[in-house]
Order: sequence, then C-alpha cells, then structure tokens
Amino acid sequence: MTAKRLERLRLQTMEELGFGPTAMRKIKKCPKCGRMASSENDFCRECGSRLPETTLYDYYKSLHRVCPDCETVVSRQTDYCPCCGAKLKDAAGIPKEAAANA
Ligand SMILES: [Zn+2]
Ligand SMILES: [Zn+2]
Repeated sequence: MTAKRLERLRLQTMEELGFGPTAMRKIKKCPKCGRMASSENDFCRECGSRLPETTLYDYYKSLHRVCPDCETVVSRQTDYCPCCGAKLKDAAGIPKEAAANA
C-alpha cells in the first residue's frame, strides 16, 4: 500500500467518523443538552435551545490543533498531519526543526 493511498483511506475514515473538516462543519452542538444537530438548524430539536453559530469544527478548532493545509483537526502530539502529511508547528508555536530538512 502506498503512502498516498493510506492518506486517502485515513481522510475517508476521518470524514466518516465525523472528524473531517467537511463533516464537522455540518454539525452543531447544543450548549444546553449537548446533543448534536445539523448546522442548518437554528434551534435544538431536543430542548429547543438556540444553537450557536459555531459548528463542531469551530469547537474542535478551539480545543485542538488544526492542519494549516487541509484544516483537519489533529492531536497535540502529532508532528505531521495524518491527512495530508503537512508538517505541523509545535503546540507551543515553536516548530520542531529536528527532521525539517530530512
Ligand atoms: Zn438541546
Ligand atoms: Zn493536513
């Protein structure tokens, strides 16, 4: 299996699980009951609370790191984007130079 094929598979899996940027932009989270709702909805279908403008993607973006190239949410421990392979900056904002020119 080539690396490119693996990347595609990963992206597909992430989209299906709801962690891809495309999928997450379609989901909002109710601030009151915590239920997921479509980003097209203005009010929660469960409790009737007004849903925020921000989607799940914005929420995750505020909690996690996001790949600057493909906008996939990545874990703090990752140096490279699992989706597109782009080199990510360190969580503290300091790039790890160790393998930069390898
Ligand atoms: Zn609700
Ligand atoms: Zn990426």
